[in-house]
Amino acid sequence: MAGFVVRSTNGKKGKALFATKQYNEGDVILEEDPLVSCQFAWNAAYRYMACDHCMRPLETPEQNVRRLAAKPDIVLPHANNFEADLMNVASCNQCGILYCCEGCRDQALVSYHRSLCYDQTDARHPIHILLEAWKQMHYPPETTSVMLLVRILAYIKQHPDPTVAAATVKQFCHRTVNEDAELVHKLLGEQFSDQLNTLRELTASVISGDSIQEFLTPEGYCALMALVGTNGQGIGTSPLAQWVNSVSQLAMSDDERQQMDLFIDKLYKDVENESGQFLNTEGSGLFQLQSACNHSCGPNAESSFPYGNHRIQLKAVKTIMPGEEICISYLDECSLQRSRHSRQKELAENYLFVCWCERCTSESSQPDITSEEDMSDDEFDDEDD
Ligand SMILES: [Zn+2]
Ligand SMILES: [Zn+2]
Ligand SMILES: [Zn+2]
Repeated sequence: MAGFVVRSTNGKKGKALFATKQYNEGDVILEEDPLVSCQFAWNAAYRYMACDHCMRPLETPEQNVRRLAAKPDIVLPHANNFEADLMNVASCNQCGILYCCEGCRDQALVSYHRSLCYDQTDARHPIHILLEAWKQMHYPPETTSVMLLVRILAYIKQHPDPTVAAATVKQFCHRTVNEDAELVHKLLGEQFSDQLNTLRELTASVISGDSIQEFLTPEGYCALMALVGTNGQGIGTSPLAQWVNSVSQLAMSDDERQQMDLFIDKLYKDVENESGQFLNTEGSGLFQLQSACNHSCGPNAESSFPYGNHRIQLKAVKTIMPGEEICISYLDECSLQRSRHSRQKELAENYLFVCWCERCTSESSQPDITSEEDMSDDEFDDEDD
């Protein structure tokens, strides 16, 4: 039995996750696969080869680091067992797109790929045209993909009961028409209303039908775009990181460990020189339970992708008592260190809510400016005004 419940709240998200039993630090609270997920468009264009369904990288750690560092001679020790992971690679019989295994291929086909299978070399295909248009609007660092939206539509269309599938998707929408527009504005920038219209027309030429018509109207499409923009959970996988993790668990002498750490540092330097910060296979997915998890600036849980694919895991980072809300941080470690004022500002800008979590409340007497960094932010604001 699960140790948590999803409850409706009148907060911004409309939902929240509450513990029904005690969790200790390190306990797994939940694991789930997304409803749909998708690799980012530029990430795929830069040859981050991954399973088209679960985003498991289709490279061994050694192939991965050789490509990222542009050094074909790098040899990784203790890396033999990773080759077995690539023995089961399968492809779609029609379009040839790659999957890590037959299971992923079959699941993709049943849930959305049948509607989206096309000859990848056909530059005039509507999916190709939509993707190219998207790539011109949304450059790295990527935060979402129009293909996630298209997969949601295909998921509804292919579902045995499209009404049920549409209702599942609509559970993610809690916003007003104006708030949706504001979010999409944030996502696409100044040109957003023209761009949104272009994307909507191109999407409608990729997929249509009675069961998804409501999502292809201007309002419906805007709501769907806002949904993927805010509920889309970032997913990152890296064969190199998996190898580093596996090596860190090997038994070795202090001397060997020191040598290994130096070797790993050097690898990351080589990679950074050639590929910058652009190291992971990246994408996003729509998770039903995980998306109910609200933000706190003092989170009691965190999520990760321990299996090297799109399966998410939520773990307690401190003791959580029955009845307590389970929260993660939407802000990264660095932003989390900043003052209440800066955190609230970032959350308001990116997620459209003012955070009054326990930590923010207890820091309410803090002045609205605390660090030099914050002061320069505020000077910018003043100049804008
Ligand atoms: Zn897979
Ligand atoms: Zn196919
Ligand atoms: Zn807060």
